[in-house]
This record gives sequence, structure tokens and C-alpha cells, in this order.
Amino acid sequence: MGDLKKLNLANLPTPIQKLTHISKELGVDIYIKRDDLTGGETSGNKIRKLEYTVAKAMDEGAQLLITCGGIQSNHCRATAAVAAKLGLRSHLVLRIDEEPPVEGNYLLDKILGAEITFISRADYSKRRAEIMQNIKEEYEKQGIKAYVIPEGASDGIGNIGYLESVKEIKKQEEELGISFQTIVCAVGSGSTYGGLFLGTKLYDPEKTVLGFNVCDDEQYFLDVCTRICRETVELLGKNIEIKPEDMHIVDGHKGIGYAISTDEELAFLIKLAREEGLILDPVYTGKAFYGLYQEIKEGKLKDLGNVLFIHTGGVFGLFPKQEQLAKVLEA
Ligand SMILES: *Cc1c(COP(=O)(O)O)cnc(C)c1O
Repeated sequence: MGDLKKLNLANLPTPIQKLTHISKELGVDIYIKRDDLTGGETSGNKIRKLEYTVAKAMDEGAQLLITCGGIQSNHCRATAAVAAKLGLRSHLVLRIDEEPPVEGNYLLDKILGAEITFISRADYSKRRAEIMQNIKEEYEKQGIKAYVIPEGASDGIGNIGYLESVKEIKKQEEELGISFQTIVCAVGSGSTYGGLFLGTKLYDPEKTVLGFNVCDDEQYFLDVCTRICRETVELLGKNIEIKPEDMHIVDGHKGIGYAISTDEELAFLIKLAREEGLILDPVYTGKAFYGLYQEIKEGKLKDLGNVLFIHTGGVFGLFPKQEQLAKVLEA
């Protein structure tokens, strides 16, 4: 992107691998793009967005990054890691129901030195922007310049991360001699889907992007992704029409709730681990991949061509689930 500033923080390009057993079982060639390998402490999809978001923050002179998410947010952990790496401070606003155990991503947030404010589910859904703005003003009174990153870095600028990944995928298609007709990702805050949607629209319009939502519903994400993509289009000064009816959000696979797993979902994660040597996360990729698997088995998704599933990371989210996983492993 011409005049947009970018930091080089992710290990790119991430590998693309074929999932041979599951492809044979489903009769569809499924490949996986290993965005779980974008880094260690910064592992996952958020770092692609933060390359642009944090560049903008630093350009504006920020000394501290404020962002928000659930207690086990991968985005918050990646933001804390990036801040530490770049000599910035971080302040995370985390949604909790009760005093949380220090584990998984939250443990890493603390190791990485993030300042943490807990808020309730109700405040998170209604007032998180206002709460982050208040924290920012508190810092500014002390002469510390802060920058607020929205949930999941899902805004016009964060959206550029996955928009640009489409170029990376195109180049890999040429190198591998394969072309992917369908790209699949999990949808949590919207800008992985939004970026892929806009990127394919710009650079590779033959492709279809399917998003499996892990919270909220189809209409919610059509609205969110449309808004984010329109912000990006404006930022880029392009004249592209964004129509929600061109987007494909596959609803019905979030299970019993955000970040809550059924035994069945975990059993599928274990099946894939054993058949492919690949670990998905329970909150996003595990649900999205299981959704894709079920939709294909039920004959609901046809003419997919070669499928590229984006492994958006989340490995640390396995550890808070160890008790349930142990139970499923014993069953
Ligand atoms: C945040 C996240 C997602 C969802 O991406 P969005 O851009 O927020 O929709 C998917 N997978 C993992 C592991 C994540 O952390």
C-alpha cells in the first residue's frame, strides 16, 4: 500500500500445507495457511493487522497502546508483546465474569508487563470505547501519549493486514502451482474476514471468502465487515462499492457460546491433531474448521474448488481448557 506505513513484525510468508487425510475424507482438497506461525509470543492473525495499526500509532507519537478483549484475548496478548518489543507500554481492558485464574494468554499479558483493567461483560458490550478513552485521557494528564486500538484491531487500518495477505497468497499460488477458489476463516471481530474480502475483491476477484462466526450472528458481521471495509476504502482513497450481499458469513457454528467449547468440538480438534499433526484452537479455528467439516459433510457447501483455510492461531487458548480436554481425551 503506497503511502501507508507498516512495521515488519510477522514472520511472512506463512507456509501453506495440504491436509491430506481430511481432504480424502471429505472429497475436497483442503489446504491450510499457517498464520499460527506468524510468531511465537505474537502468534496468530492479529500481528498482520498490528503491523499497520501500530505503525500508525507510532507515527502519531504514541508511547502506550490501549486495547481490549476477553480475558483470553489473543489480540491483547499480541498487542502486549508488540508493545514490549517496540519499547512502548500497553494497557489492556479485559472482560471478565469473576476473578480469573492466571493462565493462557492472560498469564502472557502479565509476563509481558501489560497494565490491566478488568471490566464486566455489561460494561464491555456497552462502554468499552468510552472506558478506553477515559484511560487514554488519564495517561495524557501525566504527559504520556496513548493510542486506542479497537477490539481485534478491527477498523479501517487493521483491515489492511489481511487485505495485503491476499497478495501473499497469490504469489504462493504461483509458486505452488495451485489455485484456491475458496478461502475460509473464523470471524470474531471482523477484520480478518473484511481484509480477505476486500483483498480478493481488489486483487483476485475469482475467489470466494467464507467466514464462520464464533460469536454474534450473520447480520451483525455483515454490518461490521461492511463498515470496516468502507473505512479502509476511504483510507485508501479508492472508489470501490462495498455490498454486504457479496459477503458470505456462515452462521450456526458458534456452538454454546463465545469461548465455550462443547465436548464434540474438542473431540474434532483432537481428531484433526491426530490425523494431520495440526493443533487448532478451541475458540476460533476449532469451531470454524468443524463448521466447514459439517457443512461439507451435509452437502451444504458445493463447488468449493481448492479450499484454503486460514489458521489464525490461538494456541495459548488451549491451556485454559485443559480440564475439559483431559475429560474428552479419557472418554
Ligand atoms: C481474533 C481471532 C480470530 C478472529 O479474527 P477477527 O479478525 O477478529 O475476526 C480468529 N482466530 C484467532 C485465533 C483469533 O485470535
